[in-house]
Amino acid sequence: WSSRDFPWTIKLEANNKKVFGNHSFRPNQREIINATMSGCDVFVLMPTGGGKSLTYQLPALICPGITLVISPLVSLIQDQIMHLLQANIPAAYLSANMDWPEQQEILRELTSDYCKYKLLYVTPEKVARSDVLLRHLDSLNTRDLLARIVIDEAHCVSQWGHDFRPDYQGLGILKQKYPKTPVLALTATATASVKEDVVQALGLVNCIIFRQSFNRPNLWFSVIPKTKKCVEDIDKFIKENHFDECGIIYCLSRMDCEKVAEKLQEYGHKAAFYHGNMDPAQRASTQKQWSKDEINIICATVAFGMGINKLDVRFVIHHSLPKSIEGYHQECGRAGRDGQRSSCILYYSYSDYIRVKHMISQGVVEQSPSVSGYNRFNNSGRILETNTENLYRMVSYCENDVDCRRFLQLLHFGEKFDSANCQKTCDNCCTVNSFVEKDITNIAKQLVELVKSTGQQYSSSHILEVYRGSLSQFVKRHRHETLSLHGAGKHLAKGEASRVLHHLVTEEFLVEEVKKSDIYGSVSSVLKVNESKVQNLCLGGHTITLRFPSSA
Ligand code: ADP
Repeated sequence: WSSRDFPWTIKLEANNKKVFGNHSFRPNQREIINATMSGCDVFVLMPTGGGKSLTYQLPALICPGITLVISPLVSLIQDQIMHLLQANIPAAYLSANMDWPEQQEILRELTSDYCKYKLLYVTPEKVARSDVLLRHLDSLNTRDLLARIVIDEAHCVSQWGHDFRPDYQGLGILKQKYPKTPVLALTATATASVKEDVVQALGLVNCIIFRQSFNRPNLWFSVIPKTKKCVEDIDKFIKENHFDECGIIYCLSRMDCEKVAEKLQEYGHKAAFYHGNMDPAQRASTQKQWSKDEINIICATVAFGMGINKLDVRFVIHHSLPKSIEGYHQECGRAGRDGQRSSCILYYSYSDYIRVKHMISQGVVEQSPSVSGYNRFNNSGRILETNTENLYRMVSYCENDVDCRRFLQLLHFGEKFDSANCQKTCDNCCTVNSFVEKDITNIAKQLVELVKSTGQQYSSSHILEVYRGSLSQFVKRHRHETLSLHGAGKHLAKGEASRVLHHLVTEEFLVEEVKKSDIYGSVSSVLKVNESKVQNLCLGGHTITLRFPSSA
């Protein structure tokens, strides 16, 4: 597909320079354009900032007919249209919150054989719910004017992904209705299972897949233990490393966003908050101030981010645990789009895991944006399972203090990364010279036994205290100092027992049962034993190993 001998090559090169102002193509852009212009269905995995838009905007410009683009977010669509109109490329969008006369005018234009638009953007809701739109697409199709269908943020199709949108699933209808029109599906995040799901749900035929490395060499990754002084730590980090520079701090709840922003203001930063509970005008104005550098730091839920076009974001800080590695990778991807060195810091505590898990099960986690602005997590059956599984992988990532962060992230996307190429740009590669692989089966068995012998009604932190031999009042009150396993883990290095215990949770030997939150929103949990999984472990049929940094 990299050949320059296609009938459109000369036109392509000329328009890339003249209309889009680019001197050359970025990796894979030419190949994707050649494949889609040859009429093939194409699936593209390209990191944020890789230049996905050009792969359909340039073909739209030089092909006869209209390119239909399905994009999840009105603000993202508006931003794209603004850029297209600036480049004199006629484009329009239809969304449910437009005035009807305005929509009618655009629809009327679509009925003309000399329709001026090269691109028509719609939200997935529009495709799912508007018969009028489908009738107009039918008419374009009959007149051979439906040139291409583009599905932006295609991972939203998949229930396995971190950003599932039910309306995206209905998009398979487009391929059924218009089998001859090539489909181009684009995403910056997809694991192998998500990719399979998307290809199947959209009904893509003999689909050509382009993927490029998701490694972003200019991003530096660290996971830092989260303490009660987290915001002070953030303040210090920013002042020491990114003073007066621009960044995003992702927080779990709306209240967290407001609190963190307020504290940072007290420390003298130009900070503001952004979340789904603000009215749209307020949100837009905050985003604008941030884009124009009037505000440096934005403390936001994941409602902030998709479609941000700011290239000089110098840091992305996670104040709490992200919900999945995919989401984390995408959120970090908003840093350093200009290629300059940028920091991605994650403040991790196991108690945040319990909080996120509880919020997921309650369906109250704010998601990245949809047209409706605030989506409730769909917490039914398989989706809840996927979300929990995604969260476990995130905990394992944070608890891993040995392996290269890039290696771990990229592994999740099915990409093999040689950690020698990390060049000490992550915390683990900076601090760990070598590691040892330890057999932790015995510790695991003891911890499971301890959970059982205390009646499966205590928290993980209490189990760890007993295991390490604490004589706290709480331990004594429950007479747990009398248990034979009290103090059995005394000899272990700091953090070792907790890593094993958390590993037992993420591998589902133990189950963290979250109890209801109190009025302040804090949650507590108790550990239960997953009997079916544990049986094999206790019968000696299972060995568990974990890597630890070696002291040498
Ligand atoms: P993505 O959608 O993959 O996140 P965009 O399409 O928004 O990325 O492109 C990111 C930036 O890169 C934009 O500012 C765009 O103008 C620029 N860009 C895209 N392709 C090229 C190219 N071939 N040469 C130079 N700049 C490009």
